[in-house]
Amino acid sequence: MQRVCEICGANTIELEGRCEFNVPEEIAPWLDDYKAMNLGLMSHAEHQAIVARWTLHHSQDKSDKVLGTYAEIVRLYWGRSLILARELPGMAE
Ligand SMILES: [Zn+2]
Repeated sequence: MQRVCEICGANTIELEGRCEFNVPEEIAPWLDDYKAMNLGLMSHAEHQAIVARWTLHHSQDKSDKVLGTYAEIVRLYWGRSLILARELPGMAE
């Protein structure tokens, strides 16, 4: 069952109610983005949207200005699926 995360707007497959963007930094969904962008598999805008979703789940220590900027980006992508770098074909090697 699909539903939208109330915090970051991700289309998330329900897995004990957990959003795939609500994970610790060690396994953050943006870790492979630079490799993906270097390979031309991901745009900077997509990377920013992924970082924005993750950051809204980790809002401690972030300024209101930063959170406001990310909230705006998240609104643009609300309910839309973003393909994470680790899911992109061509990232395996
Ligand atoms: Zn979320």
